[in-house]
Parts: sequence; C-alpha cells; structure tokens
Amino acid sequence: MIVLEGGHLATVDALDTEYPQGHLVIDGSVIVAVGPGPAPAELRAGAQLLDATGCLITPGLVNTHHHLYQWLTRGLGQDSTLFGWLSELYPVWARIDADAVHAAASANLGWLALSGCSTSSDHHYVFPKAGGDLLEATISAALEIGVRFQACRGSMDLGQSAGGLPPDSVVEDREAILIATEAAIDRWHDPAAGAMTRISVAPCSPFSVTAELMRDAAELARGKGVRLHTHLAETSDEDEFCQQTYGRTPAEYLADLGWLGPDVWLAHCVHLSDSAIASFAETGTSVAHCPTSNGRLGAGSARVQDLIRAGVPVGLGVDGAASNEAGRLVDELRSAMTVARLRGGPQSLSARQTLRLATIGGAQCLGRDAEVGSLEPGKLADVAVWRLDGLGQAGCVDPVFAWAFSSSTPLKLLLVNGRGVVAEDMLLTSDVGRLAREASAASARVLQR
Ligand code: ZN
Repeated sequence: MIVLEGGHLATVDALDTEYPQGHLVIDGSVIVAVGPGPAPAELRAGAQLLDATGCLITPGLVNTHHHLYQWLTRGLGQDSTLFGWLSELYPVWARIDADAVHAAASANLGWLALSGCSTSSDHHYVFPKAGGDLLEATISAALEIGVRFQACRGSMDLGQSAGGLPPDSVVEDREAILIATEAAIDRWHDPAAGAMTRISVAPCSPFSVTAELMRDAAELARGKGVRLHTHLAETSDEDEFCQQTYGRTPAEYLADLGWLGPDVWLAHCVHLSDSAIASFAETGTSVAHCPTSNGRLGAGSARVQDLIRAGVPVGLGVDGAASNEAGRLVDELRSAMTVARLRGGPQSLSARQTLRLATIGGAQCLGRDAEVGSLEPGKLADVAVWRLDGLGQAGCVDPVFAWAFSSSTPLKLLLVNGRGVVAEDMLLTSDVGRLAREASAASARVLQR
C-alpha cells in the first residue's frame, strides 16, 4: 500500500471535491481511499508513507490527440498554415521507418510523462510500404516508458491525383488499410479494465480520406467495439475544401457518414456552427481541444466554452510534436485558458474547468472515464503530485490556479497503475539523455534520406 498525505488533493470527482490537506491510499494498481486529513490508522499500518506537504495532487493527465512520429520533423514549416505545413512535411514523412518512429515515440512519451501525462493517445497515419511495423514501434515505446496508451491506427487513401491534399506516394490502398487496421485491433486491443494498450480506428481527415473509407472504418470499429477518431474542422481551408468537394461543412459531412456518436472523439473542431455543437451534444460526440497547435498553425480558437456549456465532453491534446514543439501536456492548461479568455473574456474557462478537461474530460474522449481521470476509490492509481513550493508557484493563494496558470510546475511524482514513472522530475523508466540522442539521430537520418 502507498499512502500520500499532506498535499492539496483535487479529486476531479463529480462535485469537484478538494481536500486542502487530504490523503490518498493506493493498493497495488487501484485507489482504495481518498479523504480529508491523514489516512485512517488501519490503512497507514505497514504502508509506504509519502509526504506531499506543499504539493498539489491531481489525477494523471490524459492526452487525447498526438502524433508521436512527428518528433522527427520538429521546427519545419515554422510560419505555414496547416495545408502549407502538411504539404512541406508529407514527402519527409514518406521516409520514416520503424526504428525512427520508435525513437521518436520513446522521446515523446518520456517527455509527456515528465509533464504529468499518464495516458496518451497517438494518431499515426503515415505508413510507407517499406517502413516496417510502425504501430508496433509506438506501442512498444509506450510499454517501455510505462504510459497508458491509445494507439489510433490512422490512414489516408485520398491522394492528390484523386483530389486530396497528400501526394499519392504517402496514401495507402483502402482494402490494405482495412486489413491492417483489423489486424492491429486483433493483435493489440485490450478491452479489459485497466488495460495499458487500446486501439482506435482513425482515418486522418476529410481532405486525405475518401468517404468510402470513412464509412468502412466506422463499420469496422463498431463491429469490433473500438473507438473512432479523426481530425475535424481544424482550419478555414478545410471548411472550404469540404464545401467545394462535398457541398457541406466538415461537421455536416461527418454526420452524414454516420460518424457522430458516443464512440467518436474528434481533434480540433475549431470552426463549428451552433448547430454542429448541438449535434455533438445530442450524439455524445467528444472533442480533443489542442490550443497550442491551433495557435502554432494560426488555425483559430475553438469554442470551448460553448462546447462545455452544451454538454459536449472535451479533453486536451498536445497535437505535436511538429505543430507544438513544446509538447508538454501540463502547459496545455495555460494555453487553453489563455486562448479561451482571449476569445471570450476572463470567465470563459476557469482553472478548475481546465483541470477537468485535462483529466476526466480526456478520459471521456478515450472512453476510459470509469477507470481513470479522477481520484476516487476503485479507480486506477494514475496520480500526479506537483510541487508548489518552488519559485514558479510559491505564495499563490490558490493551489489549483497556481498550477494551471503557471508553466512547468515541478513534478514530484507520477504514478501509472500505482507504479512510479517519474520522481522529482526524473524519468524512472528510461534514460532521457539516451532518448534525446536517439531521437535526434533518427530525425537526422530521416531528413537526410
Ligand atoms: Zn493532429
């Protein structure tokens, strides 16, 4: 048993209960007690006691949208729009292979863990023919780093010659995509409670995927009982593409394909009408909000306040590493609040609402809110302990606000399934110097090819 005591506990339960000096007790991989003051004597006896005085204790953070392989191509297309950035990067991504993707994914997941992330999704959608098993490369990296993982088998089948944005050299054949995606589900998807690896089906975007593949992908995912993910309504260029190609907005197009529902989460959703927000709320469709990436690409600011008010589940996504070079999940809280407040004033998004996005909101996106995303008895022991006694946060009257609105809060401890992954800002499961060297070498290899 592990007993954490003395810290400010933000449980993120349904009532947003906080205990200014609370206790959290973990037995194996599960939380068994949460409450005010010290833990009951019978739970303390023989347990490992951890003093969290001066700390904030939150659920481990959940990253709902990412592209781990893009660590190989950071810093390119610095001043481009999404379509310009993609057009510059597609030919480089055509040269990736399993070794390079494993190095990028390991570095990226290590970096995410150091920013309090205990569960991450990854949307991988570029599969060069001679590249090897790229999905396995990301999944093995996640198992090594020790982060819970939702691998989204992405895909593109609408090349330039058929009216899409990506060059034909990076798209796959529709049948081959469906076969590979089904094989990935059969091999890797673990439906059991507490699973470390899950698979989702994730055709890339309206401008890189055919309507046929979108329909077939949904049928496959629903037949297998796995979740669906894609990019949607990220930029005004995409809006224009959908109007010209399909005669509809991206959200209308998706609705007509049968792609709205409680098993779907969508990245970005920057350009949404009132009726689109209402349809998401009605169908239980959730949204991965990626404020830093949207800012990096000048895509616009999502209507987060309107989505939350309508009852749409919203999570946070880093969406990097080549469109958000910072790549730290905890820093997305500050981005989310800043972007929302620039858009709609200081009451647009509170620190506690943002904490919900980063934890239980993200867990809802991934369909795992019964297991992670809050600190409650019976939930998995995915826990982040943040130090608030350093220069960055000391003296602020509200620990949650101090944490959410500052940046780079020191991470005292990150537990995933009750297992230590980070302690005192040190990654326990791998060597960060080696991860950085291997990612740099892999990046250089791919860029020189
Ligand atoms: Zn993305």
